[in-house]
Amino acid sequence: MMNYNTNYSKVPLAPEHCAAGFGTTLIVAPHADDESLGCGGVISLLHKYGQTVYIMLLSDGTMSHPNSKQYPAEKLRDLREQELIDACSVLDVPKENIIFCRYPDRNVPSIGDVRFENTVSSISKMMNIIKPHSIFVPWRRDPHPDHQAAFQLVNSAETANAKIYEYPIWLEELGKPGDEPNQEESMPFRLDISSVLSQKQKAISQHRSQITRMINDDPEGFMLSPEMLRQFNMPYETFFISK
Ligand SMILES: [Zn+2]
Repeated sequence: MMNYNTNYSKVPLAPEHCAAGFGTTLIVAPHADDESLGCGGVISLLHKYGQTVYIMLLSDGTMSHPNSKQYPAEKLRDLREQELIDACSVLDVPKENIIFCRYPDRNVPSIGDVRFENTVSSISKMMNIIKPHSIFVPWRRDPHPDHQAAFQLVNSAETANAKIYEYPIWLEELGKPGDEPNQEESMPFRLDISSVLSQKQKAISQHRSQITRMINDDPEGFMLSPEMLRQFNMPYETFFISK
């Protein structure tokens, strides 16, 4: 069994105009920043090729700085939602195309949770309105509980015949053996995003609370370090298609 996560540079590279074929697209982001980190390039290209993009933000984002007095939960939620709106504006996705679900951060309903079935039906209802041709959601074994929950929700929802593309976020940095896709379940491909890489970087930089010490009164606060950000500054994005 071969794994791909250590060697993305060898998987096929699709030219950027392939984005035209994705059609109306829904990007499912467990947290405000996942959309830009994992899909900022493809979102820009979808706009370039005239496709409609919707963003579904699952969590309320309140656990990135749980002890901040300066940013108690509601204020932090509002800040992170605004950062998403700003990032989407850089990527040419209008505010009206963003759906805020506000499930509790680090506790997005996953399989086995009592809230799971209800959450699946709400998401199915939204799918029915948006009718996406393509859905981008984090890789099913991406090492974060909300990322795995996001896949489980989309995978259980009624998505008609939408094609699902999974994107890695923390797989390369935090994945354990077996977390990576294997050849039996998924086929990886890369999309050339070189023409829109600067836009993607600008979108990532809108998430100020996540990439700087702007919230400085929580020693346990999360921060995306420059080292962590480096893997998202590539001229391509990698996606996995189920077999
Ligand atoms: Zn995330």
